[in-house]
Amino acid sequence: MLDSAKRVAEKKDWIKGATGDWEVVLGLEVHAQVLAKSKLFSGASAEFGGAPNDHVSLVDAAMPGMLPVINEFCVEQAVRTGLGLKARINKRSVFDRKNYFYPDLPQGYQISQYKQPVVGEGSVHVDVDGRAVKVGIERLHLEQDAGKSLHDQHPSMSFVDLNRSGCALMEIVSKPDMRSAEEAKAYVTKLRQIMRYLGTCDGNMEQGSLRADVNVSVRRPGAEFGTRCEIKNVNSIRFMGQAIEYEARRQIGILEDGGSIDQETRLFDPKKGETRSMRSKEEAHDYRYFPDPDLLPLELEDAFIGKIEASLPELPDGKIARFMTDYGLTAYDAQVLTAECASADFFEQVAKGRDGKSAANWVINELFGRLNKEGKSVDTTPVSAAQLGEIVDLIAAGTISGKIAKDVFEIVWTEGGSPAQIVETRGMKQVTDTGAIEKAVDEIIAANPDKVEQVKDKPTMLSWFVGQVMKTTGGKANPQAVSGLLKAKLGI
Ligand code: ADP
Ligand code: MG
Repeated sequence: MLDSAKRVAEKKDWIKGATGDWEVVLGLEVHAQVLAKSKLFSGASAEFGGAPNDHVSLVDAAMPGMLPVINEFCVEQAVRTGLGLKARINKRSVFDRKNYFYPDLPQGYQISQYKQPVVGEGSVHVDVDGRAVKVGIERLHLEQDAGKSLHDQHPSMSFVDLNRSGCALMEIVSKPDMRSAEEAKAYVTKLRQIMRYLGTCDGNMEQGSLRADVNVSVRRPGAEFGTRCEIKNVNSIRFMGQAIEYEARRQIGILEDGGSIDQETRLFDPKKGETRSMRSKEEAHDYRYFPDPDLLPLELEDAFIGKIEASLPELPDGKIARFMTDYGLTAYDAQVLTAECASADFFEQVAKGRDGKSAANWVINELFGRLNKEGKSVDTTPVSAAQLGEIVDLIAAGTISGKIAKDVFEIVWTEGGSPAQIVETRGMKQVTDTGAIEKAVDEIIAANPDKVEQVKDKPTMLSWFVGQVMKTTGGKANPQAVSGLLKAKLGI
């Protein structure tokens, strides 16, 4: 599906310019903060927030003579992520110094990995509107985060907060395999999902635990790759889509006017919806990379990697496939249910020993719909899996109709309690007693002679009669029984 001949045949992703079609080419560098208690090379807390400079050790402040000590847990998380991306794990990797000056970088260099990263090539599969796209992973390496400069606290002074300085980041570099904003958005969403399943990054984009540098170029379909611009630090999926659309249009405009693209680093301004130039692109040699003499090369043993591999959870792709075969779900429903591990677990509790499709229907349409509306999640749901399962059972047994079930759901949501007991004590049981239903049917027929005439030529009007009977029985009549009786009595 990545082969460009097929893409050309699909023509799907092209952008119309004034002088013909263009194809956008995207490669992403995603920075994911490792979910860890302490920093990559120091024991200071890696927790988000806190008063400025509360989580800073002497190592993070780059005091002379302080030495970095590698945090084994962070290495484990990087390897775990690599395995989740079906990537090659490099048993030997090297930490390098990437030299540059910035006030929030007290060391004067960032410890990163350059030529020999801890994780090599892998891949991520994404689904874009039912189309499968494979995005190649170039590498994943470990590096330190920098601190933060604060410019708006004082009219004439800037401050530096080193809380984030030294926190462990995984930089995940993709191949230039994406061809539209939609594909890039789906890729970051999938990457985030995989890391949340693995527990290696919380994926919180508002707090900056996940951010992306987006490389954008355009070309005529089938031509060589064009010159790219890199949009730095995009921190929301929506902004990423907007930044890509804007940047692709900007480049197409320049090229169609006979100009050429300068390779540069740009920033996205969400208020204006535009990207603007930040600096011309630096080259690797500008950073004077060299191995950090304070750190030994990272050597991983097979047993270390094997232990992590053995502890991997079931990942989204596997879960989706299993939900489709085990519960007979559509790909779409399986995707919705597996978006978060907690939702998938919740669904499986409801589906256990029940019809998978009705369980999915109730979890997705009633529960998720309501949770979204009220800004809640499965972790804070007032209706438990056991309660929802009981509602599904009551419908399956014919005790209540689907319509009454929604009322029961509402009561459980607001008041709690056992659905079976609620149905019992509030007299919500479905009426299957034909005598009672027949009485209601006879009354409706007697009261509407004109409609009785019409329905003979227009059988679709039967639903009007069913509706009336359901109304007079307070929704408790069994709809099948009502419909059967009406058909017999109306002679249709
Ligand atoms: P650097 O480290 O200088 O930013 P890399 O070669 O590591 O450069 O590439 C960075 C990112 O740019 C990768 O994600 C890659 O897929 C992407 N990329 C490379 N060439 C292009 C291109 N022509 N158009 C869009 N993205 C590209
Ligand atoms: Mg880059």
